[in-house]
Amino acid sequence: MLKQFLPNEHVKSVLDIKPEYLKQKGVKGIITDLDNTLVEWDRPSATPALINWFDEMKQNNILVTIVSNNNEERVKLFADPLQIPFIFRARKPLGPAFKRALNQMGIQKEEAVVIGDQLLTDVLGGNRSGFHTILVVPVAQTDGLATKFNRFVERRILNWFRKKGMLQWED
Ligand SMILES: [Mg+2]
Repeated sequence: MLKQFLPNEHVKSVLDIKPEYLKQKGVKGIITDLDNTLVEWDRPSATPALINWFDEMKQNNILVTIVSNNNEERVKLFADPLQIPFIFRARKPLGPAFKRALNQMGIQKEEAVVIGDQLLTDVLGGNRSGFHTILVVPVAQTDGLATKFNRFVERRILNWFRKKGMLQWED
């Protein structure tokens, strides 16, 4: 049952996910979370390194859609300057927003990866909808109020995986 929360891969940062690697896996599009995945939850806009990451994806014809549970104001302010399409109030772990993102990008599920920093929304949602999921270490140690309880539960699940040797994670 807990396997629903196990990501296919885990990396330290989105910046570690390279276009060459994705292309080699046949990936044409990225569905990514925003808060604490791309930037700190309270940072309004992208860092230079992240802007560079988006450019690299674009140069390699890998599409990116931001799918966030946060509100329109937050997501739009971040995504518009980058000209990255986005879906706000996505209600992850529910599936419809992922499907919408796929439709917008015009790709199949098998050609996409779901990236995020939370087991209870990003990983669970991606897994349940049948995506390849990649967990990243949260950019910040702090969270918005809505995420605090999820983190409490998440920590227990991560510890269980760790004990079973299913997930190596350095704190
Ligand atoms: Mg997040």
